[in-house]
Amino acid sequence: MSKARLATVWLDGCSGCHMSALDMDERWIELAGLVDLVYGPLVDVKEFPENVDVVLVEGAVSSEEEEEKIQKVRQCAKILVSLGDCAVTSNVPSMRNRFPVALVEHRAYIENAELNRGVPDKVVPRLLPKVRPVHDFVKVDVFVPGCPPSADTIYFVLTELLAGRTPDLTKLTRFGA
Ligand code: SF4
Repeated sequence: MSKARLATVWLDGCSGCHMSALDMDERWIELAGLVDLVYGPLVDVKEFPENVDVVLVEGAVSSEEEEEKIQKVRQCAKILVSLGDCAVTSNVPSMRNRFPVALVEHRAYIENAELNRGVPDKVVPRLLPKVRPVHDFVKVDVFVPGCPPSADTIYFVLTELLAGRTPDLTKLTRFGA
């Protein structure tokens, strides 16, 4: 039996959702018999590949680069999972939504900077006016709330999807848990 192709994506999040996935510990060994991890922060692949069966997306969409990335991810993935409250609601990253981007950048790069004061115009991706959840940009197939979702929940989601079922998360997750 061929293995499913699994990817993980890190947008505007703290990496806590990825850390929670790592907390599946030895269950990754079992999953290694079912999936090939073809992209993500744990894999040294630069471009998001074609034909991904399942992708777990951590984080909200905050920059032009992330908007472009989530569009590419959606084109290449059969099942897209919004993993964690930042992906599902925009959560912590959206705390900046109360302020104009120029004010946020001034605070970060000028007021709070000790060296090289100035808003960067190269390398650093341009921020979108508002941070928004993943489903504002692309179709999401499965929503997994939690900050972060537990390792048990992530394992359940993956094994259900790999078995061809839609995971029922009504008793497993809640926002902020
Ligand atoms: S949902 Fe929570 S743990 Fe996951 S990226 Fe956002 S802040 Fe971090």
